[in-house]
Amino acid sequence: MRSWSIPVGRLFGIEIRIHLTFLFVLAFVWGNDKAQDATGMLRGLAVVAIIFGSVVLHELGHALVARGSGIPAKGIILLPIGGVTILDEAHAIPDPLNSWKRDIRIAVAGPLVNLVIAGLAALVLLAAVPGFSLTARPLLHSSSLLRSFVWVNVYLGLFNLLPAYPMDGGRALRGWFTRCMDMVQATRRAVRIGHVFSVLFMMVGILVGDWWLVMVGLFLFFGAQLEERSAIFQSVLQSVRLEEVMLTDFATLSPADTLEDALEKAVHTLQDDFPVVRGSDMVGVISKQKILDALRAEGNGYVQAVMQGQFDVAAKQDSLASAFRKLSARNLSIIPVVDEQHLIGIVTLQNLMHSMALLAETRKLRRAASE
Ligand SMILES: [Zn+2]
Repeated sequence: MRSWSIPVGRLFGIEIRIHLTFLFVLAFVWGNDKAQDATGMLRGLAVVAIIFGSVVLHELGHALVARGSGIPAKGIILLPIGGVTILDEAHAIPDPLNSWKRDIRIAVAGPLVNLVIAGLAALVLLAAVPGFSLTARPLLHSSSLLRSFVWVNVYLGLFNLLPAYPMDGGRALRGWFTRCMDMVQATRRAVRIGHVFSVLFMMVGILVGDWWLVMVGLFLFFGAQLEERSAIFQSVLQSVRLEEVMLTDFATLSPADTLEDALEKAVHTLQDDFPVVRGSDMVGVISKQKILDALRAEGNGYVQAVMQGQFDVAAKQDSLASAFRKLSARNLSIIPVVDEQHLIGIVTLQNLMHSMALLAETRKLRRAASE
């Protein structure tokens, strides 16, 4: 998703990006308003700006509350259907006892920002702008930008509070469920409720001939399904121990090896990353690519001089999820697995990709066999 978006700025240290499909919305507004004069067109664009400004405020609500409760936000991406806040779970401060409270707080923060802003704006406008009517029709139109601002925020707040997963209200509901069940069960239950809502939306949409409602229903339906799948994937990552997937048959290098020797050894294995071992001590890690680069740049030398001396180790009972977090957080490609100071295996990105696919297959087979 990130690769299809362009950065447009930072607010409170959080990067704001616009997804390229958003340009279609602008083109749509442009095309729709072609008949109008220049001011009409500008007002049309102003409405789009109001909507997306309000969406940014909504997402900032999620992002800032998340950051305040220990989960940094990587950024906000604006999509035509709304915004997404990407949270950096890898750097989250773990809080297993209160994580459901934290999830609810983060989910509710976005809609709350919109409702508070709508309330404040309404009060200020009613007091400061003579003859301003909050309830004159149409509520949302380019002919009254101020009124539109209030109602856009009311809509955004209320719509997102629907208890229909993956809307914010549904997320809060899932947080509430995780008090007494695990994440997968809670997500399943929230998804079922979300599906009821999405079908309702579609039915009402078809009955009254409102295709926009049908679209919202479809979006909710597939959104819920996608989220369910990612929750299941996460739980697999949580439940698999490193000893189930680590490579136990692997090559090591010595810091005293020359780079040419190291390359020679590397040729005879499929490994891309090697632990560097002196006697029984782990002293570093090095990749095939690094060996090649060093050979090209400076000619032959010793592994000692090129290896990475800073590395993370894991225990065999650690979860696959924690290994992924370590790999991505420190931009590593290998994690040695140690047991009582002894190197008993390695986990590499390359081997994780392979074993994930295999693991999925064995689980499927096991499930088929038990049915
Ligand atoms: Zn939200």
